[in-house]
Amino acid sequence: MQHRIIVLGAGYTGAFAAGRLARRLHADDVAVTLVNAEPDFVERVRNHQLAAGQDLKPRPFAEMFAGTGVELKLAKVTAVDADAKTVAVTGADGAETLAYDTLVYALGSGWTDHGVTGAAEHAHEIASRPGALKLRDRLARMDAGQTVTIVGGGLTGIEAATEFAEARPDLDVAIIARRDLGDWVSPKAQAHLRKVFAKLGIRVHEHTDVAEVRDGEIVTADGTRIASAATVWTTGFAVHPIAAATTMETTDRGQIVVDGDMASVSHPDVFAVGDAGYAIGDAGKPLRMSCASGIPMAQTAADAITTRLTGAKAGKVPLGYFNQCISLGRSEGLIQYVHADDRTRTVSLRGRFAARYKEIICKGAAWGVANPTYGMPVRRRRVAKAAEHTGTAVKALA
Ligand SMILES: Cc1cc2nc3c(=O)[nH]c(=O)nc-3n(C[C@H](O)[C@H](O)[C@H](O)COP(=O)(O)OP(=O)(O)OC[C@H]3O[C@@H](n4cnc5c(N)ncnc54)[C@H](O)[C@@H]3O)c2cc1C
Repeated sequence: MQHRIIVLGAGYTGAFAAGRLARRLHADDVAVTLVNAEPDFVERVRNHQLAAGQDLKPRPFAEMFAGTGVELKLAKVTAVDADAKTVAVTGADGAETLAYDTLVYALGSGWTDHGVTGAAEHAHEIASRPGALKLRDRLARMDAGQTVTIVGGGLTGIEAATEFAEARPDLDVAIIARRDLGDWVSPKAQAHLRKVFAKLGIRVHEHTDVAEVRDGEIVTADGTRIASAATVWTTGFAVHPIAAATTMETTDRGQIVVDGDMASVSHPDVFAVGDAGYAIGDAGKPLRMSCASGIPMAQTAADAITTRLTGAKAGKVPLGYFNQCISLGRSEGLIQYVHADDRTRTVSLRGRFAARYKEIICKGAAWGVANPTYGMPVRRRRVAKAAEHTGTAVKALA
């Protein structure tokens, strides 16, 4: 009997975990099934580039997982029963229930309107590929001089505003930020941001809260009306409601609460990684939704599962931050170095070199997903008898 590992979601973290597990566990003993709604890997960190009209390299899973032993199931996950250890999916074969021994939950996140009136109806989002493609189509049909407004002054909003302004200098690009633009980066880095925004002609509305989005305009909290032919909502991510609907312990945002191995604190046969998991980093603070911490979470979970099943020892994967890599269009960038808990250091890289650095990071993240043992030779380990169907911890293999 094979131990059945099901991985839900083939984004940066699910695809990484599935690939690593399949390469480290013997195929006679373990079946790794990866469930994803789409047949290609989505480089979500490039969604603003996709929306700006750039063509991204296609990354079909059929190629990525060829010869690895990962079985890809194209289906939409509709529910998880963490007590019965089953997953409900709907795909080309209709509705099905899949049983697992170990589950890796990696469904990522989407956008949220934060309850702002009209945002869901009138604003665009770039948290998902369909959202980015819809915006791409809208931007392509916009006439010179029309306004596109990005709501949200975080990393995604900054990357989107600069990308759109660079790609479409004929448009009037604006950004709305709740506080000072880039107030969390170092003073030199913030000055650089302002310089690039000014050079690209991006209008900046700071200390502004949006109260309503309408067709063709935005209304701020103080009642000011800002004309906006296209509004892009980048105020943060929200997880899918599937986990919160289970008996698993979740946060009030719906993330699965996990321990240091990324195992659910209430259901140890479930591991949650990436945006869907609520984990505490090495510096004692919750990790934020990002690839930067999501991929180490996936490695931690895959190695903990391998240890559980085979007894093989795993090294500790650092769960902290090193830098924030921000693209400012294709020829400008900002690398802000941070402490392990994500607090800003004074050092930053700026300009063309930073843009190239960010590009290497994006390429490296996609390469890592396709090469989850980082090119290191690995042995496919046999599963200890006791662990086959129970997932029981195995101390050591004879
Ligand atoms: C524009 C943009 C720029 C970003 N830039 C950065 C950056 O520079 N650095 C950084 O660290 N992070 C960045 N992020 C955040 C980063 O993309 C996410 O944190 C990361 O993708 C999370 O990985 P994940 O595997 O948890 O989820 P995802 O990558 O979102 O993958 C989830 C997968 O699950 C699938 N899925 C979801 N629901 C279902 C379902 N019901 N059934 C079947 N399949 C489903 C999805 O199709 C997807 O394949 C950026 C995000 C955006 C949108």
